[in-house]
Amino acid sequence: MSDVAQAGARVVVPFGRKLLTGYIVGLRCQLKENSGLNETEIKEVVELIDAVPLVTPDILALTHWVAEYYAAPWGEVLKAALPPGITESIEQLLSLTGKGSEAATQLRPERAVTNKAQLLLLVRAQGQLSLRAAARALGQTQAVNAARALAREGALLITQATRSALAKEKMQRVVRLQANSDFDRLTLTETQRRALQTLEASAGTLPLKELLRLADVSESTIKTLQKKTLIEFFDAPVRRDPLSSAALPLPETHLLTGSQALALEEITAQLQRAAYSTFLLHGVTGSGKTEVYIRAMQTALELGRSAMMLVPEIALTPVFSRRLRAEFGDQVAIFHSSLSTGERFDEWTRVKNGQAQIVIGTRSAVFAPVSKLGLVIVDEEHESTYRQQDSPHYNARDTAIVRAQKAEAVVLLGSATPSLESFHNARGGKYHYLSLPERIGKRPLASASIIDMREAFARQGKPAVFSEELLQAIEATHQRGEQSIILLNRRGYSSFILCRSCGESIQCPNCDVTLTYHQSERVIVCHYCNHRRAAPKECPNCAGKYIYYVGEGTEQLEEMLGQQFPDLRIARIDRDTTSRRRVFEKSLVDFSEGALDMLVGTQMLAKGHDFPNVTLVGVVSVDAGLALPDFRSAERTFQLITQVAGRAGRGERPGQVLIQTYHPEHYALLHACQQDYQGFYEEEIRYRQNHSYPPFVALASLLVHGSDLPKTRATALALRQQLDAANEARACRILGPAPAPLARLKGEHRIQLLLKSRSRRRLRQLIDAGVGRTLDRGHPARSINIEIDPITIM
Ligand code: ADP
Ligand code: ZN
Repeated sequence: MSDVAQAGARVVVPFGRKLLTGYIVGLRCQLKENSGLNETEIKEVVELIDAVPLVTPDILALTHWVAEYYAAPWGEVLKAALPPGITESIEQLLSLTGKGSEAATQLRPERAVTNKAQLLLLVRAQGQLSLRAAARALGQTQAVNAARALAREGALLITQATRSALAKEKMQRVVRLQANSDFDRLTLTETQRRALQTLEASAGTLPLKELLRLADVSESTIKTLQKKTLIEFFDAPVRRDPLSSAALPLPETHLLTGSQALALEEITAQLQRAAYSTFLLHGVTGSGKTEVYIRAMQTALELGRSAMMLVPEIALTPVFSRRLRAEFGDQVAIFHSSLSTGERFDEWTRVKNGQAQIVIGTRSAVFAPVSKLGLVIVDEEHESTYRQQDSPHYNARDTAIVRAQKAEAVVLLGSATPSLESFHNARGGKYHYLSLPERIGKRPLASASIIDMREAFARQGKPAVFSEELLQAIEATHQRGEQSIILLNRRGYSSFILCRSCGESIQCPNCDVTLTYHQSERVIVCHYCNHRRAAPKECPNCAGKYIYYVGEGTEQLEEMLGQQFPDLRIARIDRDTTSRRRVFEKSLVDFSEGALDMLVGTQMLAKGHDFPNVTLVGVVSVDAGLALPDFRSAERTFQLITQVAGRAGRGERPGQVLIQTYHPEHYALLHACQQDYQGFYEEEIRYRQNHSYPPFVALASLLVHGSDLPKTRATALALRQQLDAANEARACRILGPAPAPLARLKGEHRIQLLLKSRSRRRLRQLIDAGVGRTLDRGHPARSINIEIDPITIM
């Protein structure tokens, strides 16, 4: 097969006693020297599945980079890059083009001796043929070669389809006017005639449903026409369009503000140069970044390049997708995980075939098979959701930058609160810095103030959930007919359950965390491993009857606010409601149309949404986030407050933000209240420098985990020893092993080592050497989890 095989194509290979699907990642005539392998041990490939590689050369190179950089298995990265769940069932289909069928008609079967001619006839006979079937008839190499040659000549189309029941093409009944029917001469009823005329007006074919609607006739009329052989039925695939039922906004055209125009000018200049560069677009909330994104995409398209936009949350894709669809129509493809398997396959196929030149999506969209990539936009580039939690641990923002470098494309990182790393890069000249310092229409930024809950406590004599100030502000906002958002960084009804008799809280049996009470289902749930059970009536530790709930979750906030303000229409938005996509989208739409007065939710509410009538944002508690044992906790809190403040006062009326805290003097809060990014940056960057954290060092975390504590400890100690041995030039600092802040998770013990170095190369080399030597000594590979550039060190 060597002369037809291409990198990126799938193959069936023997693996032990099984047959598995693999990807060709490179072709060699010979074994590498010193590979330790023997020519005779190499097995034959059983089958070549793809005539046209499923993975494009760009994506192959990109996934290789990801695997190397993040020390992740290449196979896992490839899997993340392809439509999930169905990759193995994708097959390649051959069909004739107009040119192909013409050529086939002129062929005489008895003269068809070449492989190409035979394949033409075969495809014509079948209508559509899988490459597999063609290979059975002609031989693997012959079929692939003939198919490729015919495709090059424009006689054959090679497309992807899936055999998976999950993503079967959706079929619909279509009606076609028979070519020879001259219905003017026939005696027909009025309705029959109307049906035929409607068909004729639509070039002779229409989906049955459509025909019934347009001609306003019944199905029996159509059946009669079929009996008269005036029409015929056939089945044709329909595209599953994730946005088919969505109401699209009207395309907006604004006169650009001065700073928008300036930003766009610089971006356009780079796009025209068609060389790699990265911009950091630092625009306060409501400064019109979206408009800049859309104009930049238009420019890229005009220059014959495609564009990609990454967004941090699934919740944000509907908002942007509709906007992009309104602007660019069918050229937009959508990639995110709450699409059905079929929708995802269809969108991926449209991109691969070049039917869609714009991709919008969450993290994994960075691997979309777009060709001629010219522009990559990463909105809210600071978001931690760009980092994949599970293996392969990659950061989509950083991967996007590398992809753009390889494709000679322009990157646009947008944020109101850039990550420390990106701002640092802009300062150092690695990125071009663009700024949109003002809100559109010179609307003032919301005024934010801190409410000292220690005073509230002293006044009221007990811990209060809501301060008087916040309650009054909610009331006043409602009186003015305006809307409010109340935010809490914690989901569930209540944080945890305490027993008054023994003082114990109810812990997850698998993890070092307390279980969270969810009132709607009356269960307690672990937010890490999803362990759940019925809420107890008595304490499981001492059987005491006096258990009570500590801390508030969004569910409880919603209930308390409902009691306090009975005439407010309130809805809750958090990860529990978003798992039900429709409910969640409906709440957002209702709120934006004014059918709701208040949204209560977690930090997902802080992002991206544009509700002009919101004038009050209350943050019930920020302290939980500030107290996390993580070097990014201040940065995260600053971002959260700034983002959430950006939700207030986007319309004509000014906004107000109230933040309740027990730490009113914290620098992250003070700077956030003044919307002072620079001030915060200066303070935070000093802390990072003094304590050797990114961006001053490259950071890696090695997490050793396992259900057996002594074995886990032994592996961690061995790893430390081997790292020390390999760290000859002392180019890296090694910290640990120490119990991870979450010392037990899903029944496994977790021990952490942290590595820091000013040289990223040295850091990678040390990991390879240290981990390699540890595995050589018999410690299990599965027990060591490597994270490069971890976004948290929890
Ligand atoms: P950001 O993404 O920076 O928070 P948006 O892009 O959502 O801000 O813009 C805020 C609002 O301003 C939107 O309603 C948008 O339609 C509007 N807008 C953007 N650019 C202009 C402009 N040049 N003139 C008038 N309105 C604009
Ligand atoms: Zn758990």
